[in-house]
Amino acid sequence: MRGVLYAAAEGLPYIKSGGLADVIGSLPQCIDHDKYQVAVVMPMYKKIIDKFEMEKVADFPVQSGIINKQASLYKDVSNGIDYYFIRQDDYFYRDGMYGFADDGERFAFYCKAVLEMLKFVPFKIDIIHTHDWHTGMIPILAKKEYTDEYHNSIKHVFTIHNLAFQGNFPRELMNCFNLHSRYFDNGDLKFDTGMSFMKGAIVYADKITTVSNSYAGEILSPEFGERLNEALSYRRNDLWGIVNGIDTDSWNPETDKNLFAHYSLKNMANKKKNKRDLQRRLGLREDDNVLLMGMVSRLTWQKGVSLLIEKMSTIMGQDVQLIILGTGDNYIENQLKRIEFDYPHRAVFYCGYDEALSHSIYAGVDMFLMPSLFEPCGISQLISMRYGTLPLVREVGGLRDTVVPYNEYTKAGTGFTFKNFSGDDFIYMIKYAIEVFYYRKDDWKKMMKNAMKEDVSWQKSALLYDQLYSCL
Ligand code: ADP
Repeated sequence: MRGVLYAAAEGLPYIKSGGLADVIGSLPQCIDHDKYQVAVVMPMYKKIIDKFEMEKVADFPVQSGIINKQASLYKDVSNGIDYYFIRQDDYFYRDGMYGFADDGERFAFYCKAVLEMLKFVPFKIDIIHTHDWHTGMIPILAKKEYTDEYHNSIKHVFTIHNLAFQGNFPRELMNCFNLHSRYFDNGDLKFDTGMSFMKGAIVYADKITTVSNSYAGEILSPEFGERLNEALSYRRNDLWGIVNGIDTDSWNPETDKNLFAHYSLKNMANKKKNKRDLQRRLGLREDDNVLLMGMVSRLTWQKGVSLLIEKMSTIMGQDVQLIILGTGDNYIENQLKRIEFDYPHRAVFYCGYDEALSHSIYAGVDMFLMPSLFEPCGISQLISMRYGTLPLVREVGGLRDTVVPYNEYTKAGTGFTFKNFSGDDFIYMIKYAIEVFYYRKDDWKKMMKNAMKEDVSWQKSALLYDQLYSCL
């Protein structure tokens, strides 16, 4: 039996800002527990302290460069998995998880603390599976700062959930580590004039994965490589693309406690009741027959919201309704706040983060929009399919790997896809989908069934991670 520790900055059921948390909530459960003993570690934010009571395991000092602080280790068990939390209130007892001026120092501390807490885990850790930039310094620290057999023998897997967030900081952040300056000067950590957590992981992890096959290929190119494509190209033989699944227990239209009415492949009629309920609650005209489109998203340029804003009047010129749930860039939020006034009782923007409402939207709408500029994997399109809601997506990254485009001849397909990141391509596909919705109702119903039958669980992907761990 080998020990695997998952280290990340967020994870369900404790805290979530995006898809990373879904992965950390599911993957450790789906790994073969006859072969691997697993645990998870994450920072203990204010929101977790305020909401969860848990046992304290230990207090320990963390010294890393100019950082010299006490940390506490807490533990909780969820779904049979041990979750460890590193508590340091100066760094983590704040409203929000990221976006602070001292994020570099906070996560430098976290990376070191993860390596220090291993001695309190009651089984040997053979593999540390790190996720995204916040944990990116763990492999180099384990290999170059530590000299003991235990730390040096650990194998490291690093998963890139989004290459756009790299953890790049001024060179001075090197002062927060006990690392020789040669690791900066030789280019291993250097990025422009500063240092990069993400690059450190790309150079020092034993295996690198990203969350879809297409994205694994895309990030080797200048277009998607976020200027790390060369560093990644050196590691291309160690780079795997493994698509995410979703937690099919909590995302289940037959049991989801947030739904107005439960439904399944055998009882699709109830899906309409959720549509009605959603329309009523959000002040839209109640109508079973109108095409109701939805979007649940971080509002950033990545998600292609600019295409939606550009083509809003053309879209709303059709016989459709639109619901958007999201929060993010001020500019985008302000643009979207107009839609309720421009299209009363036909369009609504709910500005904020609301887990329960997101479930109602996935269940209640007919079609889900995801015109992303890039998309490492994407979880929303998987949830949509599970709820019989057809995704309309751009053919990029994980969206390309998971949504089967509608074929009007064979009737195959689980959604609609378009290729180029352009308003014209987007609107062309929306109009096409509208036509199918109103005039080829049988095809639409068939696609709903196809979508609900897709295997979007973690099963297949967990086997691939198993294979990957076996290579180490
Ligand atoms: P990303 O991780 O890039 O944000 P994903 O599609 O991988 O995108 O995952 C997004 C997850 O976050 C989905 O589960 C989605 O439902 C959820 N989500 C995004 N924005 C909101 C919001 N405003 N309210 C509730 N859930 C949201």
